[in-house]
Amino acid sequence: MKLAIYPGSFDPVTNGHLDIIERASCLFDHVVVAVSVNSGKNPLFTLEERKEMLSQVLSQHTNVSVDSFQGLTVEYTAQKNAQIIIRGLRAISDFENEFQMALTNKKLQPSVETVFMMSQAQWSFLSSSTVKEVSQMGGSLADFVPKIVEERLREKFLSLKEV
Ligand code: ADP
Repeated sequence: MKLAIYPGSFDPVTNGHLDIIERASCLFDHVVVAVSVNSGKNPLFTLEERKEMLSQVLSQHTNVSVDSFQGLTVEYTAQKNAQIIIRGLRAISDFENEFQMALTNKKLQPSVETVFMMSQAQWSFLSSSTVKEVSQMGGSLADFVPKIVEERLREKFLSLKEV
């Protein structure tokens, strides 16, 4: 059984993430999308909100589940008895950091392999931070995120304005 972990902040999930998840779900028996608690990134959405959005948009995928974890990705991966960490690569800018992380993880947990999947050209510019910026400025996200994520973003920025 090939179990793969796809870790990230998913703040929020975008069409770029979904494309990686869908393609990975065809390659591995099961994919766990694992939302990281301590990304050090001061997230817009709470952990529960991020997990809920992921669960909703992935509900049709029978071999994909959503979880969260705290601490080292390799420790979580080993705990789950998984052998694979999936990471998405967009432009060259992702490479340096991902390369460092993959080599560090290999040293920490030699039994775990990091598998990189190239973003599709149409999503190669897309990031959660861009999506948040566009939403905050009132732009349309129809091409970037699923409808329910667009709605959640609109609600979130409205509620923050009211505070
Ligand atoms: P992290 O904070 O761990 O980078 P993200 O949620 O930003 O978490 O990203 C999770 C993973 O998804 C990373 O491997 C990232 O490179 C990848 N990713 C993010 N956006 C895209 C995209 N548009 N296309 C392909 N991969 C992506």
